[in-house]
Amino acid sequence: MFNHIRIPESGHKITIKDGALNVPDNPIIGFVEGDGIGPDITSASMRVWDKAVELAYGGQRKIHWCELYMGEKAGSLYDGNYFPDESLAAITELKVAIKGPLSTPVGGGFRSLNVSLRQALDLYACVRPVKYFSGVPSPLKRPEEVDVVIFRENTEDVYSGIEFVAGSPENQKLAKFLREEMNVDFEVNAGLGIKPVSEYRTKRLVRKAIEYAIDNGRKSVTLVHKGNIMKFTEGAFRAWGYELAKTEFADTTITEAELWDQFDGEVPEGKVIIKDRIADIMFQLLQLRPAEFDVIATTNLNGDYLSDAAAAEVGGIGIAPGANVADHIAVFEATHGTAPKYANQNKVNPSSLLLSGVMLLEYIRWQKAADLINRAYPKVIERGTVTYDFARLTKGATEVSTSGFADALIEQMQSS
Ligand code: NAP
Repeated sequence: MFNHIRIPESGHKITIKDGALNVPDNPIIGFVEGDGIGPDITSASMRVWDKAVELAYGGQRKIHWCELYMGEKAGSLYDGNYFPDESLAAITELKVAIKGPLSTPVGGGFRSLNVSLRQALDLYACVRPVKYFSGVPSPLKRPEEVDVVIFRENTEDVYSGIEFVAGSPENQKLAKFLREEMNVDFEVNAGLGIKPVSEYRTKRLVRKAIEYAIDNGRKSVTLVHKGNIMKFTEGAFRAWGYELAKTEFADTTITEAELWDQFDGEVPEGKVIIKDRIADIMFQLLQLRPAEFDVIATTNLNGDYLSDAAAAEVGGIGIAPGANVADHIAVFEATHGTAPKYANQNKVNPSSLLLSGVMLLEYIRWQKAADLINRAYPKVIERGTVTYDFARLTKGATEVSTSGFADALIEQMQSS
């Protein structure tokens, strides 16, 4: 029983059967409209997703959307509560949801709603596919070589929130313990933070990345770490990653070292290569030799930087899709913020949320509907029908509104 959420009676819930998603033809899927530009991009994207499903399955399948509340809209419905428990409960029940951006009120006492959501539902993998669509303005010479999927650990590392402000009694207690009992030294009055990286959380993340690579016919999984400096956290991530590949995926993976030692660089049929790169060089390699990378698994902070840097190569966060996933729960999301200055202007690019919805369709295995959007999208962009952000980078473009971009996509899908 929910106070404000209404589960549509017309649809059926997605369930888990034998460890896999069981998706009916009329699944109920949650959505959070989001703040700022959220309503504009949500309504435009929803029209495109629904039309793609209708065209792909001739009316046999249909998503039954269920509105859930977080952020400002929740605040006004739930007496100032931006993060109502019943929305979390509904996501857990529905298994799949998509959300627009949420604003975090500025000022003490408010944690980022996005971080809270990931932690509350233990959505441990942040998945960000980064690939080039022809026609999108890019700073690279060969952007078409970029096609990576980044799996970023979402729950630990320096984001775990274990920090002690300089001068506080807690900080002084920890500093005393470290100096006197652990025999380490550091500047007096330093802020202190803890960077936990565990075997369990590393392995579940790397497992997801390898499973994805196998399921999607990808060539390699690269473990990105800074283990040369932070040996027992980042270095351990690398070691546990290789260990997991060896113990759980011995038949389907091969390390880069084995590839050269035993197979002279020729990849044996059906094997995914497991390799690793140090984080700093990875930023250079992703720009200079992006074709060498396929699936990337990395720790939280590295992944945060790397996913935005990679997105910038193929059009920026305005079009980068993303998802936060656990074993049987997935929340797809726009990766940019609420861009409040553009709220309710029907102006911004809906692509980030729109393409996150394509990931959602792929996740529930409605590939035919996803493909319709994937095929129509570059055609519309190549024609120069784009929102303001791309129009200012593209000579001779025709600038359209958020809803106008959705109209152009729908027209393109219908005509093909
Ligand atoms: P932002 O909302 O992402 O906006 C920064 C700039 O990025 C915008 O001014 C705009 O650039 C461009 N932009 C963002 N989305 C766009 C879109 N869909 N189409 C075209 N351009 C787009 O970042 P912010 O201003 O730092 O953050 C605003 C609020 O969002 C904050 O409350 C923050 O906490 C929240 N936030 C939420 C999320 C999330 O929910 N996942 C993520 C990040 C931030 P131009 O001005 O150049 O046109």
